[in-house]
Amino acid sequence: MSLKSYSRARAVHVMLVYTGGCNGCDIEIVNSIFSPKYDAEQYKIFLTWNPREADVLVVTGPVTKHNEKPLKAIYDAIPEPKAVIAAGACALMGGVYKNIHGDIPSEEIAGPVDKIIPVAAKVPGCAVRPEDVLAGAVAALPLLLEAK
Ligand code: SF4
Repeated sequence: MSLKSYSRARAVHVMLVYTGGCNGCDIEIVNSIFSPKYDAEQYKIFLTWNPREADVLVVTGPVTKHNEKPLKAIYDAIPEPKAVIAAGACALMGGVYKNIHGDIPSEEIAGPVDKIIPVAAKVPGCAVRPEDVLAGAVAALPLLLEAK
C-alpha cells in the first residue's frame, strides 16, 4: 500500500466548492468547522483544495452556468470512493436565487447541485449550521467506508 493510500484510508479529506452563492455557507464551514471551536481535525477530518486528495466534496451555492463545468470536472477528478454534500438552501433548491415563481431562472443557474452531480447528503440552512454539515459528513461516511 502506498503512503497516499494509507493516509486516505485513515482520514477524511473534505474539499469545499463554491458555485455562486453569497459565501455565507463557506464562511460557516471553513471558519467554524475547521476552527478550534469544532476542531474537525481531531476526528481526522481535514480540509483540502486538491480534488485528487478529497473523499468528500461539499458544494455551496446554486451552481451558476459559469460554474457547472468546473463543478463536474472537480467531481470527476475525485477518486472513488467519494461522497457529495450539498450545503445550504442555494445548493439544495436555489435559495435566494430562485425567481418569484419558485423556479431557478434557467438562463443564469444550472443547479441545484443534484441536477449536476450525485448528492449523498443534503444539509439545509441559510447559512448552514456547522453541526449540521458535520452530521452530513457523518451520514456520508458509510458510503466511503463500504467502498474501501
Ligand atoms: S444558503 Fe444562504 S448563506 Fe448559503 S450561500 Fe445561499 S444565500 Fe448564502
